[in-house]
Parts: sequence; structure tokens; C-alpha cells
Amino acid sequence: MIAYLEPFIQDNDSRRPHDGSSLCEALELQLQGGVSTDSRDTGLAGKDFGGLYSITPLALVRPAGADDVAKVVKSALQSSNLTVAARGNGHSINGQAMADQGLVVDMRAMEDHFSIVPINGLTYADVSGGALWEDVLKRCVSSYGLAPRSWTDYLSLTVGGTLSNGGVSGQAFRYGPQISNVAELEVVTGKGDIVICSENENSELFFSVLGGLGQFGIITRARVLLQPAPDMVRWIRLVYDEFERFAGDAESLVRRSEGDSFDYVEGFVFSNNDDPLTGRSTVPLASGAVFDSSHLPETAGSVLYCLEVAVHYRNNDQVSTVDTDVERLLSGLGYVKGLRFQVDLSYVQFLSRVKRAEEEAIANGVWDAPHPWLNLFVSKSDIVNFDRAVFKTLLKNGVGGPMLVYPLLRSRWDSRTSVALPEGEVFYLVALLRFTPPNSRPALVDKLVEQNREIVNICHVNCIDFKLYLPHYHSEKEWKLHFGNQWSRFVERKTLFDPMAILAPRQKIFARDF
Ligand code: FAD
Repeated sequence: MIAYLEPFIQDNDSRRPHDGSSLCEALELQLQGGVSTDSRDTGLAGKDFGGLYSITPLALVRPAGADDVAKVVKSALQSSNLTVAARGNGHSINGQAMADQGLVVDMRAMEDHFSIVPINGLTYADVSGGALWEDVLKRCVSSYGLAPRSWTDYLSLTVGGTLSNGGVSGQAFRYGPQISNVAELEVVTGKGDIVICSENENSELFFSVLGGLGQFGIITRARVLLQPAPDMVRWIRLVYDEFERFAGDAESLVRRSEGDSFDYVEGFVFSNNDDPLTGRSTVPLASGAVFDSSHLPETAGSVLYCLEVAVHYRNNDQVSTVDTDVERLLSGLGYVKGLRFQVDLSYVQFLSRVKRAEEEAIANGVWDAPHPWLNLFVSKSDIVNFDRAVFKTLLKNGVGGPMLVYPLLRSRWDSRTSVALPEGEVFYLVALLRFTPPNSRPALVDKLVEQNREIVNICHVNCIDFKLYLPHYHSEKEWKLHFGNQWSRFVERKTLFDPMAILAPRQKIFARDF
């Protein structure tokens, strides 16, 4: 039986004691993989990229394959109170892959599965749920000259982790999010069953799990649609001083048909100042390129906007042909002339661009500091209001890291999946990717978390139509509001596939009744 959130609200997470060590010993005997209660392992499983929560599990399980994952779920079912959280690469912000005194399953430990599957003229890659997208990219490109169509900006994320949320980047306007680009999944449900599902087979489970926040099953394998990989990418940034013009151009590009638009469209907001983390110097792409602010009109305000686009091409394409194509696509766009930046790089380098930023951030100590990030989908009808109330006002000095804003098309998302979206065909991804200095005082981090709350509150007060992406809520009332008229479907799906509320407990949507 599912009990909704009251146990969490009463902070009743301290459970009745169970004999953890004998349970782990018994489980270890059944598995091909391993079970660790070593504090180094449980400590790792109790942390994530957000760095806001630290929640120690009973054990970290390293499964060898789907059979092991099923045994873990079954063993939790037999206990009176254990929960199970799949951990991809732990890049959540709010502890979503944790399990307080439960079993955390390290999906990256699973045996690597990779095969190419041709079906009806299309080609797919079958990959493990715990595979990193960067490894999927390397294998597909280097051995087959193929690649998935839809990406995230950063690729050290697992296939199962992003498919449990959505998976968006600058290709999603054309191909939809990553959850629109999988044909089949192998899933271990909350009942401990291993089920193959697709649009035509066990379809309710398939669509439940996609964007399902880990609530209905653990993805142990995914079949990802591929396309021929380009060799090269021309990556271009265009500066705008007015939001309406920026948004108008971005929307026109994402609505154009293939061939008449770029292969990648994103955008971001930056401060009209010299701040090295959030200001004008973050825009130029090629080394040595300079942002000459004398090109800005006098009317430019404290925040500016950057449309980021890219075109794919092949090694044997003539440079002049690429130039002509790019100029055709750029013609008519209203960016500030003189503030256009570009660089040519290989497709793999382009997709690995955030890895380079990661290496720098690790060296500076900011990668391991807390990241109180906030991600939202905001309806086109309210994005100008959002810009005025949030970017131009509250965040005019930035968030210490990128502030992404770019349009997506609802028709590229499948309404049968579990994701909640705002109304209307066009909505914007808004990502406030906050970085904090190393050894920041907790009070600073609390202040930034509070500012996130304030932004959500501004959206409510101004009746802005929005949904949190990678949502994080504390009460049933908030989750109901988040899912709106999809809430009853979400609850029915939980009853069907994880009736004991074993899975992904720290999403705090359902609590195990014990
Ligand atoms: P985890 O954090 O380990 O898990 C996330 C949730 O999924 C948890 O509830 C967990 O229990 C569940 N889960 C994990 N694996 C499985 C599985 N196999 N089956 C079922 N449930 C599972 N997102 C985008 O869409 N686009 C981006 O461009 C993007 N860029 C990012 C850049 C950085 C630097 C970071 C830190 C995050 C970014 N994200 C982006 C967000 C990211 O997609 C999510 O945080 C994602 O959940 C992280 O994947 P993970 O493998 O680390 O999952």
C-alpha cells in the first residue's frame, strides 16, 4: 500500500530498526555482484552533485545485471521497511538517487552491454541503463559512424538517469528529448519483475518509466535510435540586447523545417559586465576572440542574451558551401552586428564541450562545491514576464554559472510519458546552473536555495505557467499541483508497477507504508 507524504512531512524517516547486516549478508549470497556496507561506499552513495543533502543508505549494491537488480528489489519487498534507489552517476541536485537506510543500486557497476540493432531500416544501439552517454557516443561514432540524435549538454550522465527525467539539449527542438528517442526498455519493476517494454509491448510500463522519476522501475537496458554522425560542427554565438528579439529569432529557428534551420539551437542570459563567470567574456568561442562592447547599443540593459546555434557538416564538404549555408540560415536574424562568434570543431568535441568546463571547474574546486540548481519549463506565453521578473530583476548579476533559456516544442514530446509540461506548443527550458565558491559557508548555500524558492514563488504570484524540470518537492499537495490532471495517472502507474513504494524514495512523492 502506498502512503503519501505524511511520513516525510512529519520527518518520520527514522525507521523501525531492522537487522541490516544479516539482510546484506543474505543478499550478497544471492547476487553475482556485491553488497557493500563500507562507510566509504555508503558515504559516496549518500552524496550527489547538488551537495545539498547527505543521506546514508544501509548498503551500496553493485549489481552484475538485471537479475541482481530484481533480487535487490525482491529482498526489499520481503523486508518490512527497506527502499531501493537506483543511482546513475549521482548528478541529481536534491538527493533524488539516495535512500535513507535503504539499498542504493550502483547502476554503473552493471556489466557493460552494447550492441547495434538494425530494425526496419533504422539502426539502434542497445545499451545498459548504467552506461554513461559519453561512452555511448564514443562507441557509436568510433566503430559505426553513428550517433544518438538527442543529447544532454553534459554527457557524464547515465542513460537510465536522463531517461527517468527527459534529457534535453539543443537538438530536442527537432528530435524531441531523449525520452522521445528510445524504442525499447528492459525494466525491473517495483515488484521485482524483469520486463521488456516498448510502444507495442507492455506499453503502459514503457511510457510510465520514461520521465517517471525512477518511480515505476529501474531501467537496465535501453534501445536508443541512431543516425549517421556528422564529422564537424560549426558552433556560433549571436548576442542580443533585447529579450523579445532574441526569443522571436529562437522561436522562428525551432519552428523552421529541417534544412531551413540549424542542427542545434540553445540560448543563455549573461550579465552586461566584466564578471569572468557570468559577464560578457563568457560569450566568445575561439581562443583570442574578444567581446567588443562598443558594438552594443546605448540602450542595452544590465542583462544580454546569446543565441547559440550549430550546423553539422562532413569533412568532404567545401568550406565555401558551409559558409554559404550558414549565412543563409543567419540572414534575417536580429542579433547585434559585430557580436557574432564562431568556431569549427569535431562533432565529438562539440558534444564533449561541458567536459572541458568540468575539468576547469575541478581544478578550481568549484565542481565539488554545492550546486543549488533550479530548472524550469516556462510557457512561451509567460516567458517575457519571467524575463522581466527574474532575469532582469532578481538575477541581473547572474548565478555564478550559466543561465540557459531556449525554446522547445511540445509536439516533439509524447504525452503518454510521465513528464509534466506547461501548456502550449512552445515552452522554454530555463536552467539556473549555480556554482558556489569552494568551502562556501552553509548560509550562502541556504540563501541561494531560498532564492530558488523565491523564483518559484514569483512564478506562482505572477500566474506564470511553468513546471519544474528535475522537480523537487516536499509535499503531496505540491506534487499534485506539479502533475495537475496527470496526477491520478501517475498514482495509478505507481499502484501498478511499484505498489509497495519501494523505488526512488527520495523523490519524496510516495512513502513506503511500514
Ligand atoms: P542520478 O542522479 O543518479 O539519478 C536521478 C534519478 O533517476 C534518481 O531518482 C534515480 O533513482 C533515478 N535513476 C537513476 N538511474 C536509473 C535507472 N537506470 N532506472 C530508473 N531510475 C534511475 N539534464 C538535461 O536534460 N540536459 C542537460 O543538458 C543536463 N546537463 C546536466 C549537466 C550537469 C553538470 C548535471 C549535474 C546535470 C545535468 N542534467 C541535464 C540533469 C541530469 O539529466 C539529471 O540530473 C540526471 O538525473 C542525472 O543522471 P544521473 O545518471 O547522474 O542520475
